[in-house]
Amino acid sequence: MDDTRSFVIVGAGQAGRWLALTLRAEGFAGRIVWFGEEAHAPYDRPPLSKAVLKGEVPAAQLALIAPEAFAALQVDWRPGQRVTAIDRTAREVISATGERVRYDTLFLANGGHARMLPGLPPHPRVLSLRTYEDAQAIKQQIGAAQQVLVLGGGWIGLEVAASARQQGKAVTVLEAAPRLCIRTVPACISEHLQALHAAQGVTLRLGCAVEAVDASDRGVTVLLAGGERLSGDCLVVGIGLVANDALAREAGLATANGVLTDASGRTEDPAIYAVGDVANALRPDGQRLRIESWENAQRQAVAAAKAALGLAHDPAADGPPWFWSDQYEHNLQLLGQPLPTHGVIERQVPARGQRVFFFCDGPRVAAVAAVNAGRELKIARKWMQQDRFPDLEALADAGTDLNKLPLMPAAA
Ligand SMILES: Cc1cc2nc3c(=O)[nH]c(=O)nc-3n(C[C@H](O)[C@H](O)[C@H](O)COP(=O)(O)OP(=O)(O)OC[C@H]3O[C@@H](n4cnc5c(N)ncnc54)[C@H](O)[C@@H]3O)c2cc1C
Repeated sequence: MDDTRSFVIVGAGQAGRWLALTLRAEGFAGRIVWFGEEAHAPYDRPPLSKAVLKGEVPAAQLALIAPEAFAALQVDWRPGQRVTAIDRTAREVISATGERVRYDTLFLANGGHARMLPGLPPHPRVLSLRTYEDAQAIKQQIGAAQQVLVLGGGWIGLEVAASARQQGKAVTVLEAAPRLCIRTVPACISEHLQALHAAQGVTLRLGCAVEAVDASDRGVTVLLAGGERLSGDCLVVGIGLVANDALAREAGLATANGVLTDASGRTEDPAIYAVGDVANALRPDGQRLRIESWENAQRQAVAAAKAALGLAHDPAADGPPWFWSDQYEHNLQLLGQPLPTHGVIERQVPARGQRVFFFCDGPRVAAVAAVNAGRELKIARKWMQQDRFPDLEALADAGTDLNKLPLMPAAA
């Protein structure tokens, strides 16, 4: 391995973590310069909308790499330093302090930022959630609130709603679309989520457009299209993520809702990779997709680090994308991408609060959504990896043990 090369990583989240870990695990002993705009060592974001908002997890437990393991990585670590430009001709990044750092290979793992309503002036009672500091501010506002307004019925909005509700707060979720999480799940999952939150006492306002927000020291008022006004003590805005792709774009790289890459994370410049939430990658099935998930950031980072080291790695072997969300005592996991063309088979064990939706394409299970049913999802993952499936009719019968069903090759 050529250890005289110099690698630069921009971004210290889940993707940055797996870049550094993989480069070292694969034996690269040369220079790694690692920039993180935040002052913290890499930390985990998923607990921010869950345990952190409920005060269940201290900051130290969020570390993605334990301090000893971090020291053992022997990286040139630059916390609190933002990279502001890339000079592709000189192969240098330029930091906010004006320092230039040379790279042989540059990894962009700089994630994204929370989208805000256009024209919304900043106010302490109007918040979004991406960082630890955001979570602390929201926790404080929710703690003091009686009525919490949440704008956006996507994953983050719903997790914030659940965390606030579990603290006894009145919660109203405002969603412009006709159903929850419309961008990522089919109607049956939206309906499940809707019933879950309604049963917990959340007021769900679907298909409602917000025209204006007025925030003052006394609270927040939201004006809806049609003239209705809703008041609350704070408003948490969860209306999606904007990829931090300006750094790449300003350096002349192609971007379109993220930095465009091939399946291994390589951009059109072979010396630059982009991974995690910032990357709009070509998937093994030929689709281009920017995925915002913890596992995807890991997978893409591992693939890019290996590609940069010239090691063989087949991203297709990683299998379908996986995502989870925790709301109240419920765990929902999604494996693969359900499509409107898929047939849906549901399996329920109400006594255990379990629901599994199998999304079927001919004789194959193409995607699975599992509520409180991690074991069932794992079994289905195995079938998908082997491309061998049971008789799909049998899946609906909750009395059958999925592990005992005879499997047949789907191609047969
Ligand atoms: C509240 C919340 C809850 C979530 N829950 C789940 C969940 O339950 N399940 C799931 O699968 N996924 C979840 N996710 C998504 C998951 O956390 C992200 O997909 C993952 O963190 C993406 O990692 P990343 O490294 O690509 O980006 P990030 O984690 O955003 O890291 C990027 C880092 O780059 C830094 N940076 C940006 N620009 C620069 C620059 N110019 N110079 C230097 N540094 C820079 C940023 O400050 C940041 O620290 C959640 C996300 C959030 C915010």
